[in-house]
Amino acid sequence: MTNGIDFSIDRSGVANLIFDLPDEKINKLSKNVLEELERAINVIDGNKAIRVLLISSHKKDIFIAGADINEIRSITDEKDAREKVSRGQEILNKLAKIEIPTIAVIKGACLGGGLELALACQYRVAVLNPKTQLGLPEVNLGIIPGFGGTQRLPALVGLEESLKIILSGKAIDGEKAYKIGLVDEAIHEEFLEESLSSFVTEIIKNGKKNKFLSRRVGNVRRRFYTESLLMKKHLIFYYAKKDLWEKTKGHYLAQFFALEVIKKTYRKTYGTRGFKIELDAFCDLAVGEISKNLIEIYFTSEALKKDAGVDDFIAHKDIKNVALLGAGIMGGGIAWLFANYNFNVRIKDITQQAIALGYNQILKIFNQLQKIRKLNSNQASLKMANVSAGLDYTNFDHSDLVIEAVVENIAVKKNILKEIEAQVPNDAIIASNTSSLSISEMARALENPSRFVGMHFFNPVNKMPLVEVIYGEKTSSETVASIVKISKKLGKTPIVVKDVPGFLVNRILLTYLNESAYLLQDGFSIKKIDSEIEQFGMPMGPFVLADVVGIDVGVKVAQSLENGYGSRMKVAEILQEIYTNHKNLLGKKSNLGFYNYDKNNKITTQNLAIYEILDSIKDKIKSSENNINDSEIIERCILTMINESAKCLEENVVKNARYLDMAMIMGAGFPAFRGGVLRYADKLGLQNIVKKLQNFEKKYGERFAVSKLLISMEQNNQKFYD
Ligand code: NAD
Repeated sequence: MTNGIDFSIDRSGVANLIFDLPDEKINKLSKNVLEELERAINVIDGNKAIRVLLISSHKKDIFIAGADINEIRSITDEKDAREKVSRGQEILNKLAKIEIPTIAVIKGACLGGGLELALACQYRVAVLNPKTQLGLPEVNLGIIPGFGGTQRLPALVGLEESLKIILSGKAIDGEKAYKIGLVDEAIHEEFLEESLSSFVTEIIKNGKKNKFLSRRVGNVRRRFYTESLLMKKHLIFYYAKKDLWEKTKGHYLAQFFALEVIKKTYRKTYGTRGFKIELDAFCDLAVGEISKNLIEIYFTSEALKKDAGVDDFIAHKDIKNVALLGAGIMGGGIAWLFANYNFNVRIKDITQQAIALGYNQILKIFNQLQKIRKLNSNQASLKMANVSAGLDYTNFDHSDLVIEAVVENIAVKKNILKEIEAQVPNDAIIASNTSSLSISEMARALENPSRFVGMHFFNPVNKMPLVEVIYGEKTSSETVASIVKISKKLGKTPIVVKDVPGFLVNRILLTYLNESAYLLQDGFSIKKIDSEIEQFGMPMGPFVLADVVGIDVGVKVAQSLENGYGSRMKVAEILQEIYTNHKNLLGKKSNLGFYNYDKNNKITTQNLAIYEILDSIKDKIKSSENNINDSEIIERCILTMINESAKCLEENVVKNARYLDMAMIMGAGFPAFRGGVLRYADKLGLQNIVKKLQNFEKKYGERFAVSKLLISMEQNNQKFYD
């Protein structure tokens, strides 16, 4: 064994290739590993003593996790990409041509290049356990499978299932893999040895007439028949493309490339030409900007996984019992999250009605999970039983962590914090889910402020991956590290931020929303602004978002930013006017906001009353010159975000540019294909940005005052990413 493949042959002629990369938690197909595989294939192929080859892994929970992403990251040009990937294709093609039966024994993650290797084997068995996941997640990195995945998977499982796997990048479990014919057998872990031995015996005994191959041939025939019916094949491609447009708005090229490759090759050119078409598409994508951006995001998420959140980390608090104050939108969502991860959750609210609403909310999410078969009803009931609720502080004396999610009012929150401190053990952590109030200020209500921290979940909690962990002046490192750790346990991405008004994400997001309101005041229509921003790649335009969040909620946060940062963050007059004098315009929740809504709460048209309101306050608005160029919409909105992000870095609100970008992608929906706010800034060029911001400052005033960091970076020719 040199690079991590163990090779042995037993007396009965069964050869074993076992992947076990030294000093690595996972197996991956780096260049070296592939070459070692090739050497092993050369030894095996033609060796008369070998009757069957088993390929497996010694790693717990991992078969092969994929290609080496560092190698993909280092691809510089198309030639480099072609060399690397064509070697992989060549070696897996050699594996596919071995004369004796080859069997991939898949236990744990079998992803990307790992699945492509398994597909190059003649047979696959999956060991049933929750960690066994099979998938081709390449599109998540802006590329397509390059080691034959777009060729072998459709040939094996047909068009419909292969497109689902390749275009979504999502993995499936062993049972599903068996059902669609991706694996020939699904084996229970307890009976692994016996079942595997019968599988091998069947193949050796019955040769090409074995029952597994017969099942596969039957599947392929049936599929061939149905796919040939009427326009079935064309319809599958048509709907797949339509669906992609709806989901990606055309921003993520890899999915479209994968679809085209399969369309060009499926049942047409399997073999050398098909592999070449796959390779060409891979090379185009691998050197492209989108893939480079998505790969950097992947590395940032890996860095965050390893980051304890503090430098002077001492210990974590072990958290088992959680208590929550408030069963509202956020309290209900947070309670669901902890219950789903099997923590004991006790909720306190002030009315039975509020508790009932909270329960309903938790049930609703569990029901949705049952509908999409992520949970069965037993599992859901067991998890639901983790939650209890009441009007008093029962069980709070057992809690390790208490999170308050009551109304956003500092006086109410401070009172509640005092009460909580009297009820919980001395070493319990106390957290607030506030979206805008100062953690240091709230901590003044506590005798021991070192155990108090912000734990800012985003709405809806079951979908949004980000948790901002906010340290106040007196929060201890242990408290921060414990919240970071527990957030990861809950499957979230925690990012530690400083206690400044709006924290990180809302500070940047609200500044941008405010700027869109200024654009509205300058004569652009709601629809025009929203549509430009959507084309840029944000999941929704700023006015749709304001309606979703609630105009009242948004303006309140904007006001707290104005209070914190002064006149440079002055709330746009139109927002202030709606908030003060048009209280029926709350957005989606009142069926009326910047848009009109139908009875199903869907947008119909823009709300023309907004323009009347604008007209009524025209004396208050400092009018800008007419005929502003359309390009200002994107420039003003995005440069505002970039400038505020730079100010956050300048003030050390967050550790680095990468974390900031991740927070904005996960918390505010900044388009991942652009790499994040600051990576996009690098692309625009800091010189260009500073010049434009200075022009805007001359034209529109202090809200465009350029961040000192941007100026110094521009002068020193620096970038946010190396
Ligand atoms: P909500 O109005 O839906 O729920 C608040 C709940 O707190 C209500 O059920 C209320 O009865 C209860 N409550 C009030 N006083 C209480 C007390 N003394 N003891 C126990 N319960 C009490 O509000 P929400 O949207 O869930 O927001 C809660 C917190 O989360 C706020 O601080 C808010 O800023 C923050 N937050 C909200 C969002 C969001 O999008 N809604 C996102 C992130 C953070």
